[in-house]
Amino acid sequence: MTDILHDFRSDTVTRPDAGMREAIAKAQVGDDVFGDDPTVNRLERHVAGMLGKEAALYVPSGTMSNLLALVSHCGRGDAFIAGAEAHCYKYEAGGAAVLGSLQPQPLPHLADGRMDLKLIEATISGGDDPHFAETKVIALENTIGGRALPMRYMDEVAAIARRHKIGLHLDGARLFNAATALGVSAKTLTAQFDTVSMCLSKGLGAPVGSVLSGSGELIGKARRMRKMLGGGMRQAGVLAAAGLYALEHNVERLTHDHRRARTLAEGLARHQQLRVTMPDTNIIFVDADAAVGDGLRAYLDKQGVAITGRYGQQRWVTHLDVGDADVAAALEHVDAYFAGAERAAKPLRNAS
Ligand SMILES: *Cc1c(COP(=O)(O)O)cnc(C)c1O
Repeated sequence: MTDILHDFRSDTVTRPDAGMREAIAKAQVGDDVFGDDPTVNRLERHVAGMLGKEAALYVPSGTMSNLLALVSHCGRGDAFIAGAEAHCYKYEAGGAAVLGSLQPQPLPHLADGRMDLKLIEATISGGDDPHFAETKVIALENTIGGRALPMRYMDEVAAIARRHKIGLHLDGARLFNAATALGVSAKTLTAQFDTVSMCLSKGLGAPVGSVLSGSGELIGKARRMRKMLGGGMRQAGVLAAAGLYALEHNVERLTHDHRRARTLAEGLARHQQLRVTMPDTNIIFVDADAAVGDGLRAYLDKQGVAITGRYGQQRWVTHLDVGDADVAAALEHVDAYFAGAERAAKPLRNAS
């Protein structure tokens, strides 16, 4: 495989820069399982304050964060509603069912990533009828598939959750991308949610970690479950320091990722064979006939341009380690691929 020169696979591929490494080197640490790590404590207080929640918990991954949220809202045998494409349903190895003994109630998405409100309400089960698992929480994801769900939709789902006295969880792995796209603060975006999970290791560029925030009661439960899952970390301040640094330095710059994604999308869309969904944030989905899409991907791979996808589908992601020059280089390679493909398709005029 060719060395990767321009990496559009995911915003998880970023590496800590010099400033972040310095923050890591200088971090004060202690044993976090004893509650002694000042840097972890500072990160948790910082995120709780930023989102207007009582408490927060630093965890190794977004997957663990979502699982902890779900098991904190639910007991064994309870149910949770999530989108059929939601990370906490589809991409977490079935953890909620296997480790939480929870029953997922996945719902289809509308084209823009929302779920139908009437369907959400009709799916909530439990109460007096012993046939049903009891729905205890609705999980939304924002952004989902790179799309920012509007405030109004989140408010409507929150009203349903309150009406039925069940919890509302936000998988905000890319919470700041959503807030940036919607032009609201993270606090405003998350105000209606009982628990919020956010990733430090995606667009924010920290090497490791997510933070779950919510009420003192729910976070207390999550803290116990984190220990049970083996997620109690000791001198984790070296990692939390990177998270604090990321929150301080890498939130406002997300607009650049979004701008570059749009430039990239517009450049890709110049080719008719590529059906490009214009991005709200930093993730672009492209659909093409399998031969075209996979041919292009293999060609780009040889040029050191890495993307993900298969069967003609492609995903391009911009992030901290992708600059304007990377976008320009990638588009040049795409143009070259289609120019070459056209030449190959055209018979030579004087061929006999
Ligand atoms: C990446 C991601 C997660 C999980 O994060 P990991 O740290 O990879 O476990 C959860 N939800 C969404 C929407 C994500 O994109």
